[in-house]
Amino acid sequence: MNILDIIAKKRDKKVLSKEEIEFFINGYVEGTIKDYQASALIMAIYINGMTDEELFCLTFSMANSGEILDLSEFGENVVDKHSTGGVGDKVSIALLPIIASLGIPVAKMSGRGLGYTGGTIDKLEAIPGYNTVVSIPEFKQNVKNIGISIIGQTMNLAPADKKIYALRDAISCVDNIPLIASSIMSKKIAAGANKIVLEVTYGKGAFMKNLEDAKLLANKMEKLGEFAGREVKSIFTLMDEPIGYSIGNTLEIKEAIQFLKGKKMPKDLKEIVLSLGSYMIKLAGRGDNLEQNKEKMLEKINNGKAFEKFKQMVENQGGDSSYLDDTEKFEKAKYEIDIKSKQEGKIYEINAESIGKLASFLGAGRIKKEDKIDMAAGIILNKKVNDKINLGETLAKICTNDEEKAKNAEKEILKIYKIQ
Ligand code: URA
Repeated sequence: MNILDIIAKKRDKKVLSKEEIEFFINGYVEGTIKDYQASALIMAIYINGMTDEELFCLTFSMANSGEILDLSEFGENVVDKHSTGGVGDKVSIALLPIIASLGIPVAKMSGRGLGYTGGTIDKLEAIPGYNTVVSIPEFKQNVKNIGISIIGQTMNLAPADKKIYALRDAISCVDNIPLIASSIMSKKIAAGANKIVLEVTYGKGAFMKNLEDAKLLANKMEKLGEFAGREVKSIFTLMDEPIGYSIGNTLEIKEAIQFLKGKKMPKDLKEIVLSLGSYMIKLAGRGDNLEQNKEKMLEKINNGKAFEKFKQMVENQGGDSSYLDDTEKFEKAKYEIDIKSKQEGKIYEINAESIGKLASFLGAGRIKKEDKIDMAAGIILNKKVNDKINLGETLAKICTNDEEKAKNAEKEILKIYKIQ
């Protein structure tokens, strides 16, 4: 068997066998198959798709490329969550400490930014000292000690996804059903939780542009989960405008902190957090009534326990929690510029994809695999869809360390905000 024949077969719209898919995954992880060859095959999959059987083989080969965690020591029901990606999506950071504060174990492996969407791991790394590279025994020990750990993808858990994920980001092969389904489910299967809540996003800022495609993606992921003996619940989230007000790593961490403190809770973020959380609590066997579950979550925010749990997690992973107490300590971008509206009216669109790309351009995301992120860069929205705006009032603030980029961004913001 050789990789050239496998690439040619997929290029020519033929169906790959289990052995061919395993040959690719094993060879790519070991390094005998090169990035440029993997890029060609991934692009062929992106263009020509995969049968359900191919998707199953791909997902399980990716999951089996490393260890499969056994989390049964944490009880009958260990719950995980994953999002298919969004702009301004700080949901995991705002949600998981609440769940852990309810005594439900949280063992979460998260990803980095992908395409124009941010990643939980990049965001957590905005907290000075927070260590996302944790060994598997340490990860489990964290969960045992304090009930929560959020880590990046270790080399030992679904390493094939770690490599393919970064490659897809660099070759414009992100928004594709088999590639997203295999990426998410290989990680979820390897990470060991037996109950999984999936936030499947759709709309202008999501990889799935409409509900129909989102449902198709959810269906594939649910089938993969079922096959692996996991219970999967999908929740659909409309992502036309960014979630909350902040886009960018430090900016989003700050927003998540305010949320966990109960100080500022943007309506859309609150709705998603409570909705996903209520299902996580249900799947964990801790309450069938979704509305009551939401109340339990709000209580943990109001009595400070959710924020306390977040602080404990940050400290436990080496982070400096004084930044959580005083968010003014976070480094600010050199250029923070308010963009004023040139007209008055009502805002009817803030395209999340365009905002995500702009934030990335300002330094919040990567163009090449090896690019370094500017943690302070991003955008703070001052107005959201349906808000009224006066002439000269601030629409958004752009934050960047690059003066030239700041100038270009101003024009872009004025184009992205659609005002009636
Ligand atoms: N999240 C992932 O982990 N993988 C994807 O492909 C998209 C979102």
